[in-house]
Amino acid sequence: MASGRVFRFRGRPPESDFDRGVDGSARRAQAVQSLEESGNGWFWSTDREGRLTFLSRQAADLFGIPMDQLLGQPFAQLFAAPGEEVAARDRLPFVLNRQANFDRLTLQTTHESGHRWWDVSGRISYSSGSFDGYFGFCIDVTDQLASSRSASQAALFDPLTRLPNRLNMTQFMADHIGGARRCAVMLLDLDRFKGVNDTLGHPGGDALLKQVAGRLQKIIGDKQKIFRLGGDEFEVVLPGRDDEETLGALAAEIISSLSQPYSINGIRCVIGASVGISISPRDGTTGDELTQKADLALYAAKSGGRGCFRFFSDSFLEIAEERRQLEEDLRDALVRDELWVAYQPLVCAISERVTGVEALVRWTHPRRGPISPEKFVPIAEEANLIDALGEWIIRKACEDAAGWPAEIRLAINVSPVQFANEALPSIITSALANSGLPPSRLELELTEGIFLANSTETEAMFKRLKAIGLRLSLDDFGTGYASLGYLRTAPFDKIKIDQSFVRGANESGSRNAAIIAAIVALAGALNMETTAEGIETLDQLELVRSLGVSHIQGYVYSKPLDNDGLKESLSSGVWTIRPKGPAKHRSERRTIYRKAGAIIGSYYHSVTVRNISETGAYIEGLIDVPTGTQIILDFGDGRMEMAVVRRVSDRGYGVEFGSTLITSPEGTLTTRKVVSPYLLATHGLAGAAHAGKSKTLHFTGPPTTETIAAHLGLTIPSEAPSPQGSTASASITDLSDSVRSLIAAVSPLQNLAITKPGYEGGRHLKPEEWDRLKLAVEHSPNAQLKYIIALVVLTGAGFRELLAAKWSDIDLEQRSWTIPPSESGEGRTVRISDAALKILGDLPRSRSCDHLIINPRTNKPFHSVFGSWDAARKKAGLADVSIHDLRRSMKSSW
Ligand code: C2E
Ligand code: MG
Ligand code: MG
Repeated sequence: MASGRVFRFRGRPPESDFDRGVDGSARRAQAVQSLEESGNGWFWSTDREGRLTFLSRQAADLFGIPMDQLLGQPFAQLFAAPGEEVAARDRLPFVLNRQANFDRLTLQTTHESGHRWWDVSGRISYSSGSFDGYFGFCIDVTDQLASSRSASQAALFDPLTRLPNRLNMTQFMADHIGGARRCAVMLLDLDRFKGVNDTLGHPGGDALLKQVAGRLQKIIGDKQKIFRLGGDEFEVVLPGRDDEETLGALAAEIISSLSQPYSINGIRCVIGASVGISISPRDGTTGDELTQKADLALYAAKSGGRGCFRFFSDSFLEIAEERRQLEEDLRDALVRDELWVAYQPLVCAISERVTGVEALVRWTHPRRGPISPEKFVPIAEEANLIDALGEWIIRKACEDAAGWPAEIRLAINVSPVQFANEALPSIITSALANSGLPPSRLELELTEGIFLANSTETEAMFKRLKAIGLRLSLDDFGTGYASLGYLRTAPFDKIKIDQSFVRGANESGSRNAAIIAAIVALAGALNMETTAEGIETLDQLELVRSLGVSHIQGYVYSKPLDNDGLKESLSSGVWTIRPKGPAKHRSERRTIYRKAGAIIGSYYHSVTVRNISETGAYIEGLIDVPTGTQIILDFGDGRMEMAVVRRVSDRGYGVEFGSTLITSPEGTLTTRKVVSPYLLATHGLAGAAHAGKSKTLHFTGPPTTETIAAHLGLTIPSEAPSPQGSTASASITDLSDSVRSLIAAVSPLQNLAITKPGYEGGRHLKPEEWDRLKLAVEHSPNAQLKYIIALVVLTGAGFRELLAAKWSDIDLEQRSWTIPPSESGEGRTVRISDAALKILGDLPRSRSCDHLIINPRTNKPFHSVFGSWDAARKKAGLADVSIHDLRRSMKSSW
C-alpha cells in the first residue's frame, strides 16, 4: 500500500479555484479519484441507521468483500479494533447516533494485507430538512501513527538494554504507589563499572550493561519492573512487596548474580553491585520520595564497603544532612580563610636532619573546631571541590616553601580525583613559576587509588608530571587494593610505608617487621627511597632504622607545624632533631569507668569498662561467659573492636583485643577503624553503647559473633601464632594481596627474611651485614647458592642433606620432604612451608637428574657447595658467619 501522504479535510474546505473555475467540478472529481486510487483514502455514506449506502470501490477491494455484501451493513462493523482501541470503536455508533459532524476519529480496520489505521470524518446529510444519514471519508494514518508510536516507545525505553527507562518508571510508580499501597523500590549501582568502560571501551561497557539487564530480568522475571535510569544505575519497583526478609534475600541474590564474572568479547571481567531499598508506605508515598530514600540507602551501602544492600533508615537523613552541611561550610571555608597548611618534617634516618616536609591541610571550623582532613577531603572529592581546594594548597605550599632553606623539599598530597584532572600539570607549573620554587624541590604524594582509573591516562599523567621535573612518592603503601605490577613501570622516587605496618611491629608474633624489610628491599631494588610514617616511640624508631628505612616521619621527631613555627626551626639553615617520645610502645593500663556494649552472638549486652590498655580491657556486666569466647566491644560512635575473653574473675572479665588500640590526638585510647554510621543505623546500633540497654540484634545469617562482625566489617582476629615450631607457611597466608605479590617479587633470600621463623639467640647479623652477604651470595658464580641457602635456612636441613635430596623424596601435595637416614643423622620428615615451596618452584630442573639441586652447567648434582659459600661470606667480610647464625639472625634482621 502507498505510504502516508496526509490529507487534511477539516470541516468544509475553503472556497478555491475548484469551486470558482469553469471546470471546477471536473477538477474536483479528478482529485477525488486520484485520492481513491492512491489507496490513501476512500469515501462512504450511510443512511440514518448508520448502514452503508455508498463506499469507494477501492475500499471494498481493500476489505476483499464484494461491494453488494458491504452495502447495507452497519458502517461501524468495518472497523475491528482490538485492545485499547475497543473503546474508540465502541464510540462510533454513539458518534453516529449524535447526528452531528465529526472529525478524525482514529479507527483500525483489519483486512487481508494487515491492520491499518484510519482517520474517519463524517458530515451529516439532510433530505427535506431532516437528518438523512452521513457522508464522509477515511484517510490512512497507519504510517504516521507508527512513527509517532515508535517515538513515544523510544521516549519510554532504553535503546541499549530495551528496559523501561526513567520516564517510564515515573508513570509505573504513579500507577502503583500512593495511599496505603505496599511497594518496594530497589536502587542498584554497579561497582567498578567505570573500569570496564575504561579498559574495554564503550562498546565493551555497553555489552556488559546488556548482560546485567539480562541477569536482572532472570531474577525479577518481569521486565516491566526493571528500569534503567542511566549509566550504570538501575531501579527495580516491586508493587505489593514490603517484607524486609524476602526483599533482603532478593537484594542479596541480585548482588551475587551481578558479581559473577562476565565474558565480554572473550575477555573475563568482574564487577560488583550495591543496592539501596525503600519501602512504601513506611518510607514515603510518592515515587520521588521512595527513589530519594532508596538513593540514601544506596549511598549508605556504598559507604559500607560496597557489594552490599541497605534498607533506608531515618538516621541516614541526619547523616546526609550533616554531610551536606559540611559540604556547604567547606565551600565557604575556602573564601573565609578557615583553611591553612601545616608542615610535618621528614627526617633522614641516619643524619637525623630534616630533608623535607609534608604539607597537610587543616580546617578550623568556626563552630565545630578542627576537622580532620580524613573527614573533609573525601567530602571535597565528592562535591567537586577538591580541584579548587587542591589548587589552593599547591599554590599556598609552594609560596611558603620558597621562603625555606634551599635543601628543604616540599611534599604535597594529591588525591586520585586531582590526579585525574587534565589541568593538574599546568596548575603545578603555574604555582612553581609564581613562587619561584624549583621543581626539583617538589614531591607529590599519590596513593594506590590512582591506579584504579584508565591506565593509559594514568601513564600519560605520570609522563606530564615527570616532565615538569618533580618527584613522586607512593603514599600509604600496603593499605590499598592495587596489584603491585604498577611498581615496575610507575616512576616513583619514594615509597611511604603506612603507619599500620609500624604499629605493633615490635610485638612478639608480629610479621610487620618482616613486611617492612621486604618493602625496603623492594624499594632498594627499584632505586626508590623509603619513608616510615607515624613513628611515635623510640623502639619503633630503632626498629625501622635497623630495617634500613631511609627517612622517618612521625611525632617522635615532630608534629606538623604552622609555617612560622617551621621557619623558626629552619632559621639556622639546618635542622637536626633529637628524637623524643615514649621509650616503648607500651600497653599502659588506664582506669576508666565507661559504659560500653559487648556483642556475643546476636545479643547486645550493656557493660562497663573498668580499665583499658592498648591490648585489652577489664569489663563488668557479663554473666557466664567462658574464656575463649569471641566478643565485639562497642565503645560508641562506631568505635568497635573484636576481643577474646582471656580471664574470668569474681566481678568481671579480662579481654584481649584482636588488634591493638591507638592513641587519638586527644590522648585517649581508641580503635583503629570506625564502623560507618550507616551500618550502625541499619543494624540498630547507633547510640547503643551510650544508651546502657541490652537487647537482641537482628542480622541476616547465623546469629554468631563472627557473622555479626562480618556484617560490621570488623576483622576477625586469626588464632594467636604458636610460639615455637611455627612454620613460615602460616605466616604468609593472611597477608594482603599487595604484600603477597611483593613477596613474589623479591629474591629467595629476601623471601626468606619475610618469612622469618622464630629462632632466638646466637650471633645476630646487623642489617648492613645482611646486605653485604646477600649481595655476595646473589653474585656468586654458583647461581644455585641463593636457593640452597634459602632452603637450608627455611627447612632447617643441613647442606649435605639438601645436596643429596631428590625430587622423589618430596611430596608436594603433602608438602613433606623425607630425609633418609645417613651417617650424619637419623631420617626424618620436614614440612615444606609456602616460602620453601615457592623456592622449589623456581629451581631449575633436569630430566636426566632427579636431584633437587643440580649444577646447571653439567646437569649433575653438586658434591659440595662449601667452596662457594665460603667465598661468598669472605667476599662479604663475614668469614666467620655460619648458616646457624643466619637462622638465628632472621628474627631481628632484614
Ligand atoms: P597522609 O598523607 O598519610 O598523612 C600522614 C598523616 O599522619 C597526617 O594526618 C599526619 O598528621 C599523621 N601523622 C604523622 N605522624 C604521626 C604520628 O606519629 N602518629 C600519628 N598518630 N599520626 C601521625 P592528617 O594530617 O590528619 O592527614 C590525614 C590524611 O589526609 C593524609 O594522610 C592525607 O591522605 C590526607 N590529606 C592531608 N592533607 C591533604 C591535602 O593537602 N590534600 C589531600 N588531597 N589530602 C590530604
Ligand atoms: Mg601523605
Ligand atoms: Mg600516608
